Amino acid sequence: MLLDNQYASFNWAGSLVEPTPLDSPSLLLVNYDLAESLGISLDDRQWLEITSGHRLLPGMTPFAQVYAGHQFGGFSPRLGDGRALLLGEVVAPGGARWDLHLKGAGKTPYSRFGDGRAVLRSSLREYLASEALHYLGIPTTRALCLVGSGEPVYREQVEPGAALLRAAPSHLRFGHFEYFYYSGQPEHIPALLDYLIDTQWPDLEKGPQGYGALFERVVTRTAELIARWQAVGFCHGVMNTDNMSMLGLTLDYGPYGFLDAYDPGHICNHSDPAGRYAYDQQPAVGLWNLQRLAQALSGHIELDALQQSLGQYEHQLLTAYSEHMRQKLGLEQWHEQDPALFRDMFSLLAEHGVDYSCWFRRLALLDAEGDLPAPLAALLPKPDAWHDWFARYRARLVLESRTQAERRAAMDAVNPNYVLRNHLAQRAIERAEQGDMAEADTLLQLLARPFDDRPEFNDYAEPAPAWAASLCISCSS
Ligand code: AMP
Ligand code: MG
Repeated sequence: MLLDNQYASFNWAGSLVEPTPLDSPSLLLVNYDLAESLGISLDDRQWLEITSGHRLLPGMTPFAQVYAGHQFGGFSPRLGDGRALLLGEVVAPGGARWDLHLKGAGKTPYSRFGDGRAVLRSSLREYLASEALHYLGIPTTRALCLVGSGEPVYREQVEPGAALLRAAPSHLRFGHFEYFYYSGQPEHIPALLDYLIDTQWPDLEKGPQGYGALFERVVTRTAELIARWQAVGFCHGVMNTDNMSMLGLTLDYGPYGFLDAYDPGHICNHSDPAGRYAYDQQPAVGLWNLQRLAQALSGHIELDALQQSLGQYEHQLLTAYSEHMRQKLGLEQWHEQDPALFRDMFSLLAEHGVDYSCWFRRLALLDAEGDLPAPLAALLPKPDAWHDWFARYRARLVLESRTQAERRAAMDAVNPNYVLRNHLAQRAIERAEQGDMAEADTLLQLLARPFDDRPEFNDYAEPAPAWAASLCISCSS
């Protein structure tokens, strides 16, 4: 295994910090498939020792990165890895470089008032969600290993502690560039851009032109990422610029959530009463965040180039989103009457609080004629209210050239049967807190093949039960 830490050679970009080992750790989950694809082969004892901060491999140089960020609209000049460490960079078999990042590794110079630790609840939530998104085809950081600890962690209540080893081609955030811009050290910005080019995008040249192309790429990837979130009904919950990945990955899972009942203004984060990061705000927040990044890069890229890239964002996002939605509805092409059909569907979904994921999955059962399929009717509190809409959708299906079976297969390939609903994660967390990982394992198996139909796991493909509405997920993790 080829391991080093190029980033740690930037002594101005953070601090060398050793992990603080966890007491009485236990190995809970290892992502052997991902490890294999990264060329990492370790035995379980090594996984446990590394993730619990008891061992470093040759080549690892643990380093806490400094960054800043706009949090809920206000600028925080110095954040950084307050409880995570970049252990090293592994070179995967194809030559790609991946960060190994240990979250919950203890205090660093950036911990502020935090304890440097992570709780089992949030670490497992991150593990499950990053796997879920990955298998839904949504770019994300990945989870490699989860360990629990015997040390209690104090949040709103006392909780079991944990640490998560995660991996991503890079953990560079918009906030890294904001830090150097606002702290009056702009000379380090080209060094970080060059690092990104060297390690991730070697096709780009270094210098203003290449940096302009790099920014354009960040814009496109962000637009495409958020289009995917919207299409699948994923709410990130804390889209601060320090949680925005330069590579367009879903990064830093906190109070995220998948939509249950369709509600465009859904707020998944209990600590966001104003709904700054509500589901329907995510596209606009993405642009706002990119504007903050543009500001930070403005000394190194022509203003015109920055503006031109920003100007493409909305179109890119809408184009990608519209393409995802066309497929979710099972249509081969958009026709003139479709936008109205589409809008009216969303009005009805919102008015009747219909489950978002189940709706698309079960819509595939509808034929151009015949009775309303029972699983679809079961989702609708007032099926009669949909009479008109179904008539229009069915009339529209007649214009399709695919057979019903072909359309259904195409819809099933894009509309997941299994998404990580909060109550499913909660059930796995409660078991894990009692030392039983069986439920987490089951969930991971289902989420790894989200488009399959597994009748023995029907319960996991149903709308959330009423008690799920009382689950309260906040920033505190
Ligand atoms: P987050 O809300 O998780 O994105 O974190 C925002 C900032 O707070 C980052 O700089 C984190 O490193 C830091 N932070 C969050 N939780 C802790 C903690 N328990 N101990 C130290 N720093 C933390
Ligand atoms: Mg964060």
